Amino acid sequence: MKLLDGKLVSQALKDKLKVQTAVRAAQGKKTPHLAAILIGNNGASETYVGSKVKSCEEVGFKSTLIRLEETISEDDLLFKLNELNEDDDVDGILVQLPLPKHIGEQKIIETILPSKDVDGFHSESVGRMVQGLPAFYSATPYGILLLLEHYQIETKGKHAVVIGRSNIVGRPISIMLSKNEYPGNCTVTVCHSHTPNLKEICLQADIIIAALGRLEFLRADMVKEGAVIVDVGITRVADSSKKSGFAIKGDVAFDEVSTKCSYITPVPGGVGPMTIAALMMNTFKACAAKDN
Ligand code: NAD
Repeated sequence: MKLLDGKLVSQALKDKLKVQTAVRAAQGKKTPHLAAILIGNNGASETYVGSKVKSCEEVGFKSTLIRLEETISEDDLLFKLNELNEDDDVDGILVQLPLPKHIGEQKIIETILPSKDVDGFHSESVGRMVQGLPAFYSATPYGILLLLEHYQIETKGKHAVVIGRSNIVGRPISIMLSKNEYPGNCTVTVCHSHTPNLKEICLQADIIIAALGRLEFLRADMVKEGAVIVDVGITRVADSSKKSGFAIKGDVAFDEVSTKCSYITPVPGGVGPMTIAALMMNTFKACAAKDN
């Protein structure tokens, strides 16, 4: 078994971006600028946004973190987003999800200018991705593709089973893996909460993308010998030995599945850092698109 080391690969991608950003600066071109909106005091969201801002610093991007109260009205948030849409210096905008219940998530996503939609959640970005047009691929599935590509995982003709069908992970990665490109050309099965024979389907998989958010759901008896396992799940589990008081675990029972598979992503250190690297790549692209 080999680790698909997201920490290592994301660092390599960020190192490359850092050089490309310095080259832009030397050429007198604009510095990529990511604006992140964080609403309320959700601990996990704080951590994710913190990592994104830190990564911007690492690669030499400008970042703006906008903290808003949990009680902000939808109209005020839309107003803020429109300001960022109109700000020529801002290349990419992300609104950290989840949002407070009184704010319509889809409305917010649709308000971000597609040219600044570096999270790739806008219907225009998704539609373009589905049709094979140039688009921002949403960060987590894009990060998974970059990881498969780095390790030169053979995907053509393979059976990929995606567990989960959310708009941000399961659905887009299932489409990306079915496309006529590399990584892709898989035969894809999408499983979800109403799939009755999930174990039998998983046992046929050459590649499993576990993105359901259920602690250590995928066990060794659900995995074919030699399969490639990508664990997207993030669950916080109380752990008094950690300074934070919790450990991060995935959707895969790593200890037992890792004895059977050929490649596997660890949690943490797998898909998480790749998501951030993919976001940085999208932000760079959004900035570079303004060059001409
Ligand atoms: P979600 O809750 O929106 O979707 C979960 C999906 O899993 C649903 O489509 C549901 O049908 C399916 N599902 C739930 N229980 C199931 C079951 N028992 N059997 C089969 N399918 C089942 O979740 P999401 O936003 O897609 O996130 C999934 C997980 O990935 C979460 O743990 C989340 O924290 C994590 N995540 C990680 C990253 C990262 O960067 N590593 C990014 C996004 C999400």
